[in-house]
Order: sequence, then structure tokens, then C-alpha cells
Amino acid sequence: NADAAMYRAKEVGRDNFQFYAPEFNTRAHERFLLQEELRNALERSEFELLYQPQIDLRSGQIMAVEALIRWTHPTHGTMAPVGFIPTAEETGLIVPIGDWVLHEACRQNKAWQDIGLEPITVSVNVSARQFSEKNLVERVVHALSESDLEGCYLELELTESLIMQDVGLAVTTMNKLQSLGVQISIDDFGTGYSSLTALKTFPIARLKIDKSFIDDVATNEDDQAVASAVISLGQKLNMRVIAEGVETDEQVAFLRKNNCDEMQGYHFSKPVSSRQIERLLESRSR
Ligand code: C2E
Ligand code: MG
Ligand code: MG
Ligand code: MG
Repeated sequence: NADAAMYRAKEVGRDNFQFYAPEFNTRAHERFLLQEELRNALERSEFELLYQPQIDLRSGQIMAVEALIRWTHPTHGTMAPVGFIPTAEETGLIVPIGDWVLHEACRQNKAWQDIGLEPITVSVNVSARQFSEKNLVERVVHALSESDLEGCYLELELTESLIMQDVGLAVTTMNKLQSLGVQISIDDFGTGYSSLTALKTFPIARLKIDKSFIDDVATNEDDQAVASAVISLGQKLNMRVIAEGVETDEQVAFLRKNNCDEMQGYHFSKPVSSRQIERLLESRSR
């Protein structure tokens, strides 16, 4: 912990302290600043959700979008999650931030339905800290009722490590979510550890094959073996399988040939604003 380290450094005394300075001091200070700015970001409405389409590989249609958070930082400009989600996790700020994401994603999805667009699912990333909060299910219920969105149009993305942390809690929570109609997907599948027992016990609607297996799937035989095995495993367990990070025609061809259900990636679209999703959905309806 950098704050504790700074106190320790101070205790060592002035003469020794300069041994750590200046860059240590700067980094600790930057961390502190980031935490403070993150604390204020919600009330200053500095967060925004972008949405990335998820495409059915057979019909070529948008079936769902993944909500991805962005932070317009007062001085650094637009920040990707990698720059602040870890700090949000450490400080617990991920709980109110995650709550905002949930509400905003549900509100937006209902707004798309209200202007007459074909209903789609919105998927929301849930962090470990958020998942282990006792009242996650109530928070989901609240977001759905406040937005008047049906549960079946919301999906939560969980990671393997998150669900394996406490299998009992995960099963109970997932079953409650399922009874609301909310779908569960496993994000970054293949990069963590999950048991086959867990996979068949949990009510999982979709497996998302991690981008790292997709990157070289057009040429690398090992990645091809992993990807095609995950596709058939998922489908045999009655799950849909989606490939993450699809960028090229060759990757799409491989996925089609191997009967993958869906894809997500720059090949179809980067994460875009709600307005741009609206346009994509409008052209789909026509
Ligand atoms: P993720 O859930 O695995 O999301 C996919 C990430 O891959 C996104 O990065 C997306 O922009 C990026 N991506 C999608 N297709 C491609 C592609 O074809 N090529 C490349 N190079 N990248 C692609 P992003 O938006 O920076 O998000 C990173 C991670 O941050 C997410 O990974 C997720 O774990 C986390 N995250 C994002 N939004 C939220 C949120 O609202 N709450 C929480 N708890 N975590 C979030
Ligand atoms: Mg995700
Ligand atoms: Mg992912
Ligand atoms: Mg990922």
C-alpha cells in the first residue's frame, strides 16, 4: 500500500527520505489525487457508457451490446477503465460506480426500446467487489424496476476468478438473478480457473472466449484447438459462445467454420456512443 509506504518513508526521517524522492513521492501523490478525483467523479457526472455491439454470426445482426465505462477526467481527458477501475476496486468506490453503470445501462436500453427499436440485451461488467456485496441482487432489482426494463434484456458479465472465489455465494446469487430473467455470461473465458463442475452447475447463458485466444486464431493451431474446444464445450452445456476481440475477416471465417454463435470486436465496431448504437439499430430495423 503506497500510503502506508509513504508514512514509513516519513518515519525514516528527513535525511533518508530524500532517498525515495522525488519520483516515489510523485507517484504516491498521483495515486492520492486519482482517488480524490474518482470520489468526486460520480456527482460531477464525469462517467459515460460506450456500447460495443455483439453480432450473431449466422444472421449478422446485433443481438446485444456491452456497456463499457469511460471517465472524462478533469485534466487527463478520456480515461479507459484500465486507468481507474483498479483504484476504484481498492477503495471500494467500484460499488457506487458499478451501481451507476447498472442503472445507466438499464435506463439506456429501455430508452432504445421506447423509441421503437428492436429489443436487445445490454451486458454490464461486474467486478469481484461488487459481486460480493450482500445486496447485489437487490441493486439489480432496483435498477430494473427504476428503468422499467425487463430482466431478460440485462446480462451480467462475471469472470471465472470472481465466481470461483466463493462458489456457494456465486450459485445462490446467480440463481436469484436467473429467476429475475437476468442472464449471466463468463467474461475473458479461458484466462482464469474454473472447474467443469462449476460450469455445469452455474446457470450460465454465454461463454465469452477471451481475446488472447482469438488474436492468432486464424493461424495458430493451438489457439484454434482451444477456441473450437470451447465452442463445442459451451454449446454442449447449452450455452452460447461469443468470441471477443475479433478484428479480421480471417478470424470471422474461422469462427463461422467452427460454428461459433456470436462475435464482438473492432471488425464490426469499436465501443461507440448510445447515439451511434441507435443508428446501427435503426439500419437493422429497415
Ligand atoms: P472486457 O469486459 O473484457 O471488455 C472488452 C475490452 O476489449 C474493452 O476494453 C473493449 O473496448 C476491448 N475490445 C473490444 N473489441 C476489441 C478489439 O477488437 N480489439 C481490441 N484491441 N480491443 C477490443 P475497455 O473498454 O478498455 O475495457 C477494459 C476492461 O475494463 C473490460 O474488459 C472490463 O473488464 C473493465 N470494464 C469496462 N467497463 C466496466 C464497468 O462498467 N465496470 C467494471 N467493473 N469493469 C468494467
Ligand atoms: Mg466484459
Ligand atoms: Mg471480456
Ligand atoms: Mg477482456
